[in-house]
Amino acid sequence: MSIEIKNLSKRFGDFVALEDVTVSLPTGQLTALLGPSGGGKSTLLRIIAGLDSADEGSVTIEGVEATHLPPQKRNVGFVFQHYAVFKHMTVAKNVAFGLEIRKRPKPEIVERVDELLKLVHLSQFSHRLPSQLSGGQRQRMALARALAVEPTVLLLDEPFGALDAKVRKELRDWLRRLHDEVHVTTVFVTHDQEEALEVADEIVVINEGRIEQVGTPDQLYDEPANPFVMGFLGDVT
Ligand code: ADP
Ligand code: MG
Repeated sequence: MSIEIKNLSKRFGDFVALEDVTVSLPTGQLTALLGPSGGGKSTLLRIIAGLDSADEGSVTIEGVEATHLPPQKRNVGFVFQHYAVFKHMTVAKNVAFGLEIRKRPKPEIVERVDELLKLVHLSQFSHRLPSQLSGGQRQRMALARALAVEPTVLLLDEPFGALDAKVRKELRDWLRRLHDEVHVTTVFVTHDQEEALEVADEIVVINEGRIEQVGTPDQLYDEPANPFVMGFLGDVT
């Protein structure tokens, strides 16, 4: 099973944001979508999520034809760079939100939130407000919230982009370990080569709306498909 993206194109007016993008993202894998700013990463992620629609092409998620499904029918979880947390709700309430609106039984919610807070190492902060967390802790809360409803796919758009380098590195390592525990199919958008190379099973390099290469970190290093990939990865110091 997988996410199958076939011949996706997206234009904004005359501007071509995605051009005939075809790629397969295997189930259970942590895939990084890597490329320079303006390359089309967020546009592709939004189309996978159903937050935006393509002009041409199709998206299939785990065998389900999803091209015309609304976001809530796609069973995807999201985390963005600036996650919209509920400021007046405790950490536990934020994590419980998706379960509350689905009217899950109370004991089930309590148990699941407990589990999730353990998973993201925030158990001792369950009664705090988001404003009483650090930036890194807030993004861990956002991840727990996204995972609460057991999404088929987790979509992360530069989730650590706003944090300082040290925290970013910690969270990257932590995400890798978390993924090894939960194995949810994850697409991680970043413009940071080092981040992609360290965190991902496989990397999709995208530039100017086109896919330049798909490969493991080693493959990209050893056999860059073209001068763009070579130059882009060459920026890693
Ligand atoms: P990335 O996430 O890789 O930085 P984006 O997918 O956000 O890139 O954007 C790709 C290109 O499409 C950029 O040049 C951006 O300006 C353009 N773009 C994105 N969204 C819109 C929009 N809603 N209207 C017009 N242009 C857009
Ligand atoms: Mg973006």
